[in-house]
Amino acid sequence: MAGNTIRAPRKRIAIFGSTGSIGTQALDVIKSNTDRFEVSILTAQSNHGLLIEQALRHQPHTVVIGDDSKYDVVREALSGKGIHVMAGPASIEEAAGFEDYDMMLAAIVGFAGLRPTLRAIESGKHIALANKETLVVAGDIVMQKAIEKRVPVIPVDSEHSAIFQCLVGELQNRIEKVVLTASGGPFLGKKPNFLVNVKRDHALRHPNWTMGAKISIDSATLMNKGLEMIEAKWLFNLKPEQIQVVVHPQSIIHSMVQFEDGSIKAQMGLPDMKLPIQYALAYPGRIPNEFPRFDFTKTSSLTFEQPDLKTFRNLAIAGEAMYKGGNAPAVLNAANEIAVFGFLHNRIGFLEMTDVIEQTMAKMPFIQRPTLQEYFESDAEARNFAASLLKM
Ligand code: NAD
Ligand code: MG
Repeated sequence: MAGNTIRAPRKRIAIFGSTGSIGTQALDVIKSNTDRFEVSILTAQSNHGLLIEQALRHQPHTVVIGDDSKYDVVREALSGKGIHVMAGPASIEEAAGFEDYDMMLAAIVGFAGLRPTLRAIESGKHIALANKETLVVAGDIVMQKAIEKRVPVIPVDSEHSAIFQCLVGELQNRIEKVVLTASGGPFLGKKPNFLVNVKRDHALRHPNWTMGAKISIDSATLMNKGLEMIEAKWLFNLKPEQIQVVVHPQSIIHSMVQFEDGSIKAQMGLPDMKLPIQYALAYPGRIPNEFPRFDFTKTSSLTFEQPDLKTFRNLAIAGEAMYKGGNAPAVLNAANEIAVFGFLHNRIGFLEMTDVIEQTMAKMPFIQRPTLQEYFESDAEARNFAASLLKM
């Protein structure tokens, strides 16, 4: 009967941020499932060498390089290959609005991912969302637009993928709370007298995950978990008091949902981003794979503890921004992006990142119900102010 099997058409995937940690892992997933997926668009900011290599291997119809100065070399390398080459931030956004793809994997890092993702939603594309900053900055507008356009936003972030998977089949049932698990990062158990001397390379070494530089620093400061609380609030329409963070150093339980009868569902597995990436691309189906399996007989304990909010103040500040709402999370995010940049370039120390964020939050005017334009303005103003603290 094999010859008579009717296969669904291949899902056409556009990867925005294809040269990053998420983007490259997504291409691995696609390479193992070429009967299900094809690549339509690839975008990158500056790594033109890798972008060219990916384009030659995966044959998208369009590639976009964010850095204009790399346009000629990319166009040259792909000439005669039937691949349309574009350049610049406006082109990244324009490509997001193209007709001929089905799903965007939003894997750009930071605020830069917001405009392309919004454009994709406006043109009715399904979203596999890795770029959490999009929801941190303008979650109300993004989710409202997704509802209007009836497009699913499927989380790629492992915690949110876990919650999403726990909610399958539970649409009628009220969530009492979600428990976001945090590994605790490379400095779990450390105190400020240690953190004050932490250097870039040490902070970039995460015990359980290999990720891009920005999210690695966010994981070390626990800002990542703060951003994820805000991401969860918008994705699952939760009140701040329904979101709890628990440190779980083994990163086996990726997050949990507690329902109103007290029953708790968890999603588990080895820490490997390919799994949530594959789940989001293939949703609602699951795809068999050869990824390593978690073995209970080789793990003696799964442990849980409270986050240390006194030491990792970023998590507390992000929690406050979530409760405050309005433009506070957008300001938090902008200040954090600048602070992380400053730390990665050795301009400020590890603990000073928090000072930059706190001072920026204190300085920026509060807007209760910002328009999209006001979110953009809040981002720009907060960035400028935070940068002035770094003397950049
Ligand atoms: P990364 O730094 O490895 O890759 C970022 C990608 O975005 C690259 O392709 C880069 O070219 C592109 N990019 C960077 N700046 C850009 C700009 N200004 N304009 C357009 N494109 C730009 O980052 P990553 O670790 O892959 O993370 C991507 C997103 O996914 C982040 O929002 C992160 O929080 C989220 N995420 C990542 C992981 C992970 O394991 N890496 C896990 C969960 C969530
Ligand atoms: Mg995560």
